[in-house]
Amino acid sequence: MPSPIDCSKVRFAISAVREAAQLVRRVQSEMVVGTLAKGALAKDDHSPVTVADFAAQAIVGKRLSESFPGMGFVGEESADALRTRECQTTLEQITHFVRQLEPKATAEQVCEWIDRGAGEPTDEFWTLDPVDGTKGFLRGDQYAVALGYIREGVVRVGALACPELNDQDLGYQDSVYQDSAGASRPDCGGAGTLLVARRGDGTWAGSLDEANTEWRQLDVSDRAASADARLLCSVEKAHTDTGGIGLLVKTLEITADPVPMDSQAKYAVLASGGGDVNLRLISPRMPNYRERIWDQAAGSIVVEEAGGRVSDLDGKPLDFSHGRTLATNRGVLATNGHLHNALLAGLREINA
Ligand code: AMP
Ligand code: MG
Repeated sequence: MPSPIDCSKVRFAISAVREAAQLVRRVQSEMVVGTLAKGALAKDDHSPVTVADFAAQAIVGKRLSESFPGMGFVGEESADALRTRECQTTLEQITHFVRQLEPKATAEQVCEWIDRGAGEPTDEFWTLDPVDGTKGFLRGDQYAVALGYIREGVVRVGALACPELNDQDLGYQDSVYQDSAGASRPDCGGAGTLLVARRGDGTWAGSLDEANTEWRQLDVSDRAASADARLLCSVEKAHTDTGGIGLLVKTLEITADPVPMDSQAKYAVLASGGGDVNLRLISPRMPNYRERIWDQAAGSIVVEEAGGRVSDLDGKPLDFSHGRTLATNRGVLATNGHLHNALLAGLREINA
């Protein structure tokens, strides 16, 4: 049976995102589903997304200290706030969930494991987004646990656990994402998808639930006519420039409406041929925003190793050697490769 290359970093990435995603799912089922009305949650100290974020980063920090002691780790979260008196209940909730995997964990250890990820990037490190697409997580839509391994400013290994992403989303069947924006996703009760890529060895997808999953190698689509391009973009309007996307669609005479989706699940769909372009235009409200490395590391290698191309909006390669952000890049353009130059030309034309 074909499978991704068997090396310690790939093995680690697969098992870390799988374990973290299972923990996040448990938080979701105990704290979101059935207890609170849909849409009524905010990202405050007691919200499930906070608990899920910290619990997932704690468990990956712990696993890293076992498997790669001494190696750098850059995670989205820091435990500073959790150590304050006001956050004691939240810390107790996080510790409760972490103990399901590490029964002897203390609250102080949980903070230490989280804070393994609080440092600055070094020459060689792992980077984690414990729950990418937090709004999607709360809505019951797409979200991802994203882990990347970076050396000398280049992503070498990436893994994405996408608990809500299943075959029908990935383009194996007629993609539902050819429908107009907002079309509902059929719920087939799937197990979710795990994707892993290593530089030079392709991108692989399997079941998130099964440890002995059947792996399949992914290929991007071969669409080359820009009018036929299926665009993916953020659901959150504050994370992009919806006006710019509209202008680009018009300029390139793209016929299908862009499909909004949360998180790096967009990269998974692109890598498997269910979409052709993922656009991260810069929000006019935050013109100086620079992408966070954990939001792009795993997703970018997953697309590149499936045959796609990833750059910033000016066509420059993403450079992961400038700290916690992609400080020298503006936005992100990820495509199946065939459409990249046409999209870059369109972006120049609209001055995005
Ligand atoms: P998405 O689900 O594609 O909207 O991406 C979610 C990620 O967008 C989050 O993890 C945030 O780190 C990131 N984000 C937050 N603010 C912005 C912004 N102004 N522009 C682009 N991305 C942002
Ligand atoms: Mg994120």
